[in-house]
Amino acid sequence: MLLTSYSKEMFRPECNPSFQSLHCIAHLDQDITDALPYLNATLGGFEYFKEPPAVTFRIHGKIITVHPREIAVNALKDEEEADKILQWLQREINDAWEKRDDIKPKYEGLPKPKLLEILKLLPKTNCRECGEPTCMVFAARVAEGAKGLERCVPLTEENRSRIAQYMSGFQLDV
Ligand code: SF4
Repeated sequence: MLLTSYSKEMFRPECNPSFQSLHCIAHLDQDITDALPYLNATLGGFEYFKEPPAVTFRIHGKIITVHPREIAVNALKDEEEADKILQWLQREINDAWEKRDDIKPKYEGLPKPKLLEILKLLPKTNCRECGEPTCMVFAARVAEGAKGLERCVPLTEENRSRIAQYMSGFQLDV
């Protein structure tokens, strides 16, 4: 077993201490650098960074980043949820490491939607109804999976479904 133990630290984001969700950092007692490309291959990391090595996952609206000696999880509702996620990740890391001879390591993240492909179908009036300063910013937020198309009220049904169809080719779990 590669990862046998860690210690957990829970905190609220400093930028907004009244914010209802919690963040968690797990400090790993073992270095899992060599397991990261295998974990990326098995779980489909959203982003993969080579230097320093890290892999990011977007799972059920949370961003989970796994570093060689640390796992960071955001948007948690309580400590119990943090424990469940960390235990699951520990199993996945150890499984990927044990089965590494049968797994092709992956050193890149998932393909990303192109901002311009989304922008060209938006109304481009910069009306701000979506809460963003421009259609360009909104397109960027949609491309990264942080905002849904329903926020652009003036968007025509036809273009809404064209963008949705384009986006369905990417694995964005938000
Ligand atoms: S609501 Fe739509 S049209 Fe208005 S700024 Fe946002 S993306 Fe552009």
